[in-house]
Amino acid sequence: MKVSSVNARWILDSRGNPTVEAGLQVGRAWFTASVPSGASTGTHEAVELRDGGRPFHGKGVSKAVGHVQALGKSMKTKDFKSQAELDAFLLKADGTANKKKIGANALLAVSLAGARAFAGSKPLYSYLAASLKRKPLLPLPFANVLNGGKHAGSSLKIQEVMVVPTGAKTFGEAAQMVAETYQSLKKDAVKKFGAPAGNVGDEGGIAPDVSNVRQALDLVWRAVEENGHGQKMALALDCAASEFYDARTGAYHVDGKILTPGELLNHYAELQSQYRFISIEDPFHEEAFDDFARLRAVFAGKCQVVGDDLLVTNPARIDRAQLSCSALLLKVNQIGTLSESLRAAQIAESFGWNVMVSHRSGETEDAFISDLATALACGQIKLGAPARGERTAKYNRLLRIEEDGVPLARFKLP
Ligand code: PEP
Ligand code: MG
Repeated sequence: MKVSSVNARWILDSRGNPTVEAGLQVGRAWFTASVPSGASTGTHEAVELRDGGRPFHGKGVSKAVGHVQALGKSMKTKDFKSQAELDAFLLKADGTANKKKIGANALLAVSLAGARAFAGSKPLYSYLAASLKRKPLLPLPFANVLNGGKHAGSSLKIQEVMVVPTGAKTFGEAAQMVAETYQSLKKDAVKKFGAPAGNVGDEGGIAPDVSNVRQALDLVWRAVEENGHGQKMALALDCAASEFYDARTGAYHVDGKILTPGELLNHYAELQSQYRFISIEDPFHEEAFDDFARLRAVFAGKCQVVGDDLLVTNPARIDRAQLSCSALLLKVNQIGTLSESLRAAQIAESFGWNVMVSHRSGETEDAFISDLATALACGQIKLGAPARGERTAKYNRLLRIEEDGVPLARFKLP
C-alpha cells in the first residue's frame, strides 16, 4: 500500500468534545477513520493526547492532529505490505510504552484508516476476516438500555444494564428485540418515575433516578417480558466498579451500602441467582485481580466475567489476568493500534475466554467496530442503546452486513 497523501482534522464526538479523524489517500481513493473516547477510563489505557489550556476546556486535539500530519510526511516514502507493518511503523515513530509521545488517538486514526485502505474496494469485514483466516460471523448485541455511573446524572452507581437477545436467529431479529424493549422501557420508566426518567445518558440508554441496581434490573426485565421476549433475552451488567471504589478504605459504595470486596461478591452472587444475568463487567476495581478471580470461580458455567478497566486491551495485563476473567472487552482506543487489538483478542482466545468488541461512551459515526467484531467472529459486541446516531451507526452497519448472508452468533459461556 503506497500512501500518496495523509490528512487529519478534529471532528466532534457524541459528547461534543473534539476527536481525531485521519484520511489516507491511496491511488485516487481516500480512506478515513475516526477515534472514540471514554469517560470511565482505565488508569492503564494508552494516552489520549489532549492539548490542555483553555480551548475546548483542555480537550483540544490539535497536537494529535499535527502528529498525524507529521506521520503522513514519513509515510509517503513507504510501501506498507501489511497492517502489521503499518502498525509497527506507527509504534516505532511513537517509541513510548503508553503512546504518550504521538498519542493513541493519533496512532489509532491512522491505523484504522490504514485497515480501510488495505481493504480497498472489499467490504472491511470480509477483508479483515480473510486476513485473520476466519469466517465472518455477526456478533450478538449487548445493548446498554439503562445508563448509570459516569454516563448519567442519576444515583445509580452501576454503570450499565444491558439486554442480550440470545434467542435471536438473525441480527435483524436481535435489533428488533432490542428496539422493542427499549421503547417499552422508556414508556414504563416515564410512567413510574415521571417525564425526566425518559431522558437518556451518554450511550442513549434511559437514565431514571433509581438508587440501586435491583430497581434498574426490574424495570428492564419488565420491558423484556412486556414484549414477549422473556425466553429469548438475557441481562448483562457493566459495574465499572473503579468509579465507586474507595481506595482509602478498600470499600465499595454501591446500591446504598458500603461493602467489603467479599460482601460485594455475595451481593453479585445473590443478584445473579435472581436475575440470571449472563455477563458481568468490571465487578471490582481496576487492580483487583484476585477478587475478579474469586468471582470468576463462583460464576463458572453461569456468567462470564469481563475485564475492561482491569485489562485495557493490553496484552501484558491480559496475560496477568488469565484466572481473573473469562472474557475480554476489546476497545481499540485503549491500546492504540489495530494489530495490538487483534493480538489482545488472540491471547484472550488462547485462554478459552470470550471476546466482546466494544464502543466507547464518547463515539463518532464511524462503525469500524461492527466490521471488526464480524471479522473476528467473536460473537459479541457492546453497542449502547438502539438510539442516537453514533450508536445506531453500529447497529445499522450490522444490518447491512447481514444482507451479505453472514450468520448471527449464538451466545456461549466461556
Ligand atoms: C465501558 O466502561 O465499558 C464504557 C463503554 O464506557 P467508557 O467508554 O466511558 O469507558
Ligand atoms: Mg466497562
